[in-house]
Amino acid sequence: MSAIASSTRVLVIGGGPAGATASTLLARNGFDVTLIEKEIFPRYHIGETLLVSVQPIINLLGAREKADAMQFQKKAGVLWQWGGEEWTFDWTKLNCDFTSSFHVKRERFDEMLLRHAQSQGVKVHEGVSISEIHFKGDRPVSADWHEEGSGEAGRIEFDYLIDTSGRAGIMANKYLKSRRFLKAFQNVAVWAYWKGGKRPETGFEGPLTLVSVPDGWIWYIPIEEDVHSVGLVCHSEAFKESKTKESVEELYQRNLAASPLIADLLKPADKVSAMYVERDYSYSSDRLAGPGYFLSGDAGCFIDPLLSSGVHLAMHSGTMAAACLASVMRGEVSEERATRFYHKCYRAHFVRWAVMVSTFYDVNNKKETAFWRAQTLSKEDLQGAEWTDLKPAFSTLMSGLIDMRDAQDSDLLSQTKSRLDTVLQQIRDNHPAPNDRFYRNGEEKFDWGRRPENAIDGLYCTYEPKLGLVDTGPTERAFAAVESSPAAE
Ligand SMILES: Cc1cc2nc3c(=O)[nH]c(=O)nc-3n(C[C@H](O)[C@H](O)[C@H](O)COP(=O)(O)OP(=O)(O)OC[C@H]3O[C@@H](n4cnc5c(N)ncnc54)[C@H](O)[C@@H]3O)c2cc1C
Repeated sequence: MSAIASSTRVLVIGGGPAGATASTLLARNGFDVTLIEKEIFPRYHIGETLLVSVQPIINLLGAREKADAMQFQKKAGVLWQWGGEEWTFDWTKLNCDFTSSFHVKRERFDEMLLRHAQSQGVKVHEGVSISEIHFKGDRPVSADWHEEGSGEAGRIEFDYLIDTSGRAGIMANKYLKSRRFLKAFQNVAVWAYWKGGKRPETGFEGPLTLVSVPDGWIWYIPIEEDVHSVGLVCHSEAFKESKTKESVEELYQRNLAASPLIADLLKPADKVSAMYVERDYSYSSDRLAGPGYFLSGDAGCFIDPLLSSGVHLAMHSGTMAAACLASVMRGEVSEERATRFYHKCYRAHFVRWAVMVSTFYDVNNKKETAFWRAQTLSKEDLQGAEWTDLKPAFSTLMSGLIDMRDAQDSDLLSQTKSRLDTVLQQIRDNHPAPNDRFYRNGEEKFDWGRRPENAIDGLYCTYEPKLGLVDTGPTERAFAAVESSPAAE
């Protein structure tokens, strides 16, 4: 291991997509960044199918050539067999610059991003854990590390901390005690890898297939030429109950067999791995940023995997954290304003995904099984959601909604859309003066949200040509000046 410095401007804990993204962007903007990662990469991780929004972030990172050289499986859309109906999202028809994404083996994808971070000047240390964080008042100022293999240990001081430690969530779990679980989505995922499975006929390349079954739903992901990741998501109560009468493998196989489509796709295939089991409970931290710190990716919040938003949220929040910190460190915006802005944005995006997931689950709510009964967001789940801040500063990253708009012809989609409107109406009734233009304006374009009207507390993010926050200023004149500037600097 190369020596870990005794101090750094920015410490990033965790080298997954959130940490690699935030650290790369800061290093590319000239800041001193140290990233400490517990594992030695490549390391296994679930989360294999990516949204379109990951593509422009890869470009921002300057990692396009490296990503393309990996030859990941192209993903051009999604096939849903859901609540007795079938429809597709064909991303090749998206009205934006990016019309496909990747299915990936995460060990390859994450390693590519981490090595890229290193190549951009991030000081990366693998096989090293952060065990303690020390504070001055509310502000984290240093951290204790230890290397698993050698037993070597030390302390590193920093000006700013980005916690991207994933589900471990060292800040939220150990210090802030701020992680709150959503009652609605307390699910368990069970999955394995299959060789020789068929691809469904959709007319576009590499579809992700999502199928509802009585006990929950199934993902069918072509992660490599001949290998599929096939998972079942079911409610934790049903999982617990099933364990009293059948093995995990039996629960899994019974549900795969319950879908004629999945059973047919897997007919020529062999299961080539052991079973993997993981709780995928959804949660969010009550605080996503504070004095000197930001929580990004799963360290901040995690939403049910139905809409494959995890890596998107990790890379998107990593990008936002880097933009906020870059402006703070250049003295353009106060830390207090930047952290408040970050918290509001990230929290609003999380809640928006939660509402969307709930809406999709709701299509199936007539099903009388524990899973389908349980997947409804309660008011309690949404408590603290700042709906007045649902401005679309980053809406362009939510390619899931662009897909929905693109495929509006489908009956089910219109039903889903109107259900979304109903849910939003209910929330509006309880939260005054929301701005939900995002859901209503069909004209959203993929333009990095460089728009003053999307500002939150007078701020919005810009990524090009310089990463940072734009302050729209207190006057109408300042507002207009920013609007007319093509670079929106
Ligand atoms: C069942 C399931 C299915 C999913 N499917 C999808 C999907 O299809 N698509 C999708 O986009 N997302 C999916 N997700 C979500 C996705 O896996 C995560 O959202 C994503 O990995 C988050 O990235 P991250 O960088 O925040 O965290 P991670 O990728 O978890 O990275 C965190 C890193 O921090 C390191 N770390 C932890 N503690 C410490 C410490 N103390 N010191 C140093 N390092 C530390 C860890 O070793 C790890 O490498 C799924 C999740 C589940 C549970």
